[in-house]
Amino acid sequence: MQRWYRELNLLLLLTLPALVLGMFTGYIALCLLVVVTLLLIRQTIYIDHLEKWLSRGAFGDKHPQHGIWRDIYYHIWKIRKIDKKRKKKLTRMIDRFRTSTDALPDAAVVLGSYGEIDWTNKSARDILGLKKSDKGQRIANLVRNPLFIQYLKSNDYQQKISIPSPVNENIILQISIVPYGTGLRLLLAQDITQLKNIERMRTDFVANVSHELRTPLTVLKGYLETLLELENVPSVYLRSFQNMSTQTERMQLLIDDLLLLARLETKSKKSECINISELLKQLCKESDLLEKDECRVNLKLDSPTNLLGDPEELRSAFSNLLANALKYSPADKPVYVKWFKNSENGVCLEIEDFGEGISSNDIPRITERFYRVEVKRNRKINGTGLGLAIVKHVLVRHDARLEIDSQLGKGSRFRCQFPQKRIC
Ligand code: ADP
Repeated sequence: MQRWYRELNLLLLLTLPALVLGMFTGYIALCLLVVVTLLLIRQTIYIDHLEKWLSRGAFGDKHPQHGIWRDIYYHIWKIRKIDKKRKKKLTRMIDRFRTSTDALPDAAVVLGSYGEIDWTNKSARDILGLKKSDKGQRIANLVRNPLFIQYLKSNDYQQKISIPSPVNENIILQISIVPYGTGLRLLLAQDITQLKNIERMRTDFVANVSHELRTPLTVLKGYLETLLELENVPSVYLRSFQNMSTQTERMQLLIDDLLLLARLETKSKKSECINISELLKQLCKESDLLEKDECRVNLKLDSPTNLLGDPEELRSAFSNLLANALKYSPADKPVYVKWFKNSENGVCLEIEDFGEGISSNDIPRITERFYRVEVKRNRKINGTGLGLAIVKHVLVRHDARLEIDSQLGKGSRFRCQFPQKRIC
């Protein structure tokens, strides 16, 4: 039988005799009132027991073992038991998570909305020098690298940054931040010292080899020039000398580009206010002179804006783009060079040609070193495959990005988008 039926039965059991007694004595209301009051007192006592039991944390079993109250106590006890099980499971999960994150070689730090430390793993304590007791402290007060503080404040975490470890200057850390939840951030720091060393070794090797090749190449070029100037050279030899001269010329270009790339990777950034209009006018004039066609390059200066940057690097990037536009389009087609303010309050250089274009498969790869698109052309176009790699490097060093739009057989449009902070 349902327990609340029993409660009802008890009520009827007490009410009926009270009713009978009331009818005999003529005090029906009084008898019923006495019964109801007794029942009310009983329930109040049970409620008091329940309150005391709950205030003790629902421990112990000193509670009524009959009626509806037995069920109430049983259900509370059951809920508590399930809750306890769930808590145990959660604690085990947290422990497992802690052990695995502590085993991670990368540092992980959970930051609150004000940059205060909420949680750290073991690596964070090892390579970032944080302590368990630093919980609640702002990380910017503990990792005092200016680049890191600027990155933390920027709220733009698309890029990663590299900084020396606060514990050991020789350790290079790559820092990235992932925002999640409401205002929370996960900071990850990876030790990339070895990667940086290998990268430096590669750059040094390429730079040294290129540098060492320069002198023998200059000697070779000198001898070839002398041989080409000789009179009465048999035509068979003359053709060979001309071929050798073209190839040494190519090699020279390759070495120059490799050295420039190595410089871009190692040189510290230079920043001065550059008159871009003047620079572009000069570049277009030089190109027209080389092309022996004064109308091929059309320059449109829609903005007088100047840029903060390295003049040599920008000159080399812009001239590479212009040279490509001229190289990869027919001699009778114009090339448009435009300098204008873009929609992001920054400034943009656009170089457009109506040449062979680039397929959508090749576009993502053309900025890779030595990548040249295989196209069957009726004339051979010389190149090193390093021009756009140089352009990309220079733009990254100027906080700019390269956008490429192209259609095979129709032409290409290269855009260098500079941010507002580069305007001077
Ligand atoms: P390269 O010395 O070969 O010109 P780049 O790095 O400058 O090297 O260019 C890489 C490749 O991208 C080129 O080989 C060419 O196929 C393609 N490319 C670059 N610019 C253009 C352009 N304006 N039109 C068509 N193809 C281009």
